[in-house]
Amino acid sequence: MVNSLKASLQGSEVPERVLVLLSGGIDSAVALWMIRRERPESEVYSLSINYYRRSAAEAEYAAKLAAKAGVVSHTIIELHFLREIEDQQSPSQITYKGAELPPVFIPVRNLIFYSCAAHVATSINAKRIVVGHNRDDAENFPDVGPTFIESFNQLLRESLPGYDLTLEAPLIKYTKREVLRMAVELGVPLEDTWSCWGPGAVHCGRCEGCRTRQRMFRDLGIRDPVAYERINTP
Ligand SMILES: [Zn+2]
Repeated sequence: MVNSLKASLQGSEVPERVLVLLSGGIDSAVALWMIRRERPESEVYSLSINYYRRSAAEAEYAAKLAAKAGVVSHTIIELHFLREIEDQQSPSQITYKGAELPPVFIPVRNLIFYSCAAHVATSINAKRIVVGHNRDDAENFPDVGPTFIESFNQLLRESLPGYDLTLEAPLIKYTKREVLRMAVELGVPLEDTWSCWGPGAVHCGRCEGCRTRQRMFRDLGIRDPVAYERINTP
């Protein structure tokens, strides 16, 4: 009786641990702030993965976000062999919904990222992995979306019997614009988010990442606090 009481007390004292995959972009920042609000008692950890030519600024912004969110620890994994299609020597012909994938697509990226996150999760006894993919990602890339995530969770159940680890994408039903509105509502420090695909220390304003960001902020009437080398007119 005493032992079972002690066990239940110990059980209730152990906080839930969550690992958030944090890129430095708005979406994963929203996922992180959402977890903090919805489960304030949780211990939150973050993980960033550096791949070939990943922008140093993006990595730096991810670390800033992690610090502002007050995560227990922010882990960085180096996977420099992972290349975007545009950086491959002989890019494979990979299409999705009959169209070519954007040059920033990294083949098998999410299977690798999620697997790395699962390994790290077991090392800190986290039972939940949270990723920031949204509905636009799911429509544009093959390795995102509810079916892919459920398939990965099935693999987790088979890979880690009895451990009960799940991967969740709480923003998967929301468009990129809806996620930006959520960022404002959650108080995400947008000045510490990075959306540029270029290598510079400042948002270039020319790449598709910057153009999409500028358009979204403008259309929603939200002030974008980051600096740009160039501001595009509508
Ligand atoms: Zn840019």
